[in-house]
Amino acid sequence: MHEMPVTQGLINMALEHAQGRRITDIYLQVGQFAAIVPDSVQVFFGYLSQGTLAEGAQLHFEIIPVEMTCLDCNTKADVSEWQHERPQTIMANAITRGCAHCGSKKLRVTNGVSFGMVSLNVE
Ligand SMILES: [Zn+2]
Repeated sequence: MHEMPVTQGLINMALEHAQGRRITDIYLQVGQFAAIVPDSVQVFFGYLSQGTLAEGAQLHFEIIPVEMTCLDCNTKADVSEWQHERPQTIMANAITRGCAHCGSKKLRVTNGVSFGMVSLNVE
């Protein structure tokens, strides 16, 4: 349950940005590979924000899909057909198939791994 410290960090950051104003909305990006469950963040946020200026704020999650890029020719691999598979499966499939442009098996995950706050609204 690593969402708990992650959520605490998020609240601390949001409160710092809000500079004493009440927070109404927090916009977040969650990479498909980030291993963060938005529902868990929502639950922890409910507990951890109690008594702070972030209490009652609405969380907005944007899921960032996985992106893989060929290290040899910089072509982005199309992994959309496996979008509903587990991250490990997407990576394994993409590497097995190789780069569509040059055939290289050296593919790297270039997006969809991070979790973070994009912006917030205050009163
Ligand atoms: Zn390539």
